[in-house]
This record gives sequence, C-alpha cells and structure tokens, in this order.
Amino acid sequence: MEQSFIMIKPDGVQRGLVGDIISRFENKGFSLKGLKLVSVDRAFAEKHYADLSARPFFNALVQYIISGPVVAMVWEGKSVVATGRKIIGATNPSDSAPGTIRGDFAIEMGRNVIHGSDAVESAAREIALWFPEGVVG
Ligand code: ATP
Ligand code: MG
Repeated sequence: MEQSFIMIKPDGVQRGLVGDIISRFENKGFSLKGLKLVSVDRAFAEKHYADLSARPFFNALVQYIISGPVVAMVWEGKSVVATGRKIIGATNPSDSAPGTIRGDFAIEMGRNVIHGSDAVESAAREIALWFPEGVVG
C-alpha cells in the first residue's frame, strides 16, 4: 500500500496544530504507520531538502526546520501521496485554498506549517531517512 512522509514543521508544533492536522488525515481514512516528535540538526535538514540545495531560500529553509521540534509521520492509504498534497494545499499559503491545512493556517511561504512528499519515490527516500528503524507493518 502507498505511503507518504508527512512532517509538521516547527511552527505547526509551536502553534498547537498537531491534533487538528492528525485529525484531517485520520478523518480522510488514511492509516498512521509512524509518528515521532524530533529535533533535527542542520546536516539532517540539509539531507531532507537536498533537492533544493541550489535555491536561494535553502539556508532560511534549513534554519526554519531546525528552529524547534517537528512531528515526523508516515501515513498509508490509496493515493496518499497526491491526496496528502491536496489536504496540505499549495506551497505558497497565498495560493492555498481555504479548507487545506496551509490555506487555513498559514500566510507565509517560509512558515507553511507542514511538509508532504511530492512523489512515491521521494516518499520512500524520506521514510528511509526519517524512520531508519522502520514503521509498523
Ligand atoms: P514541502 O517540501 O515542505 O512539502 P513543497 O513541496 O510544497 O513543500 P518545495 O518546493 O518542496 O515545496 O519547497 C520546500 C519548502 O521550501 C516549502 O514548503 C517552503 O517552506 C520553502 N520554500 C519554497 N519556495 C520558497 C520561496 N520561494 N521562498 C521561501 N521559502 C520557500
Ligand atoms: Mg517539497
């Protein structure tokens, strides 16, 4: 069954949005397969966002991700990668529709509350990076 890596970013944790966000994935019908609260260091954040290392906002992005604990999760279900991105909403909260997580909770691209894998292949890479111990079967 398809899996996606979903991470509540430091602002989402600090603002107390963890329960609401988990409820949205649960209510949709997806299954929680992995969950942990973790603080990651610069090297780890750079590895997670390695594909964006040439972008001008890369340093600010890494600084954001290491600014506090994040909630790392693995969710499973039919088309969870694409549907998870729909639940999350567009990258820029100015473009994310009301009813999506970013549409409801964010106004800044650099504080957009949550990450979701953008493809099945990147989900596999991210799950292996964040959950080397594995997730439940
Ligand atoms: P994520 O990977 O975090 O789920 P995304 O896939 O919607 O987000 P990406 O293009 O992968 O978008 O960018 C990763 C993150 O980098 C964005 O979520 C956002 O926090 C930040 N970001 C992207 N573009 C910009 C930008 N132009 N200025 C500032 N921050 C940006
Ligand atoms: Mg992305």
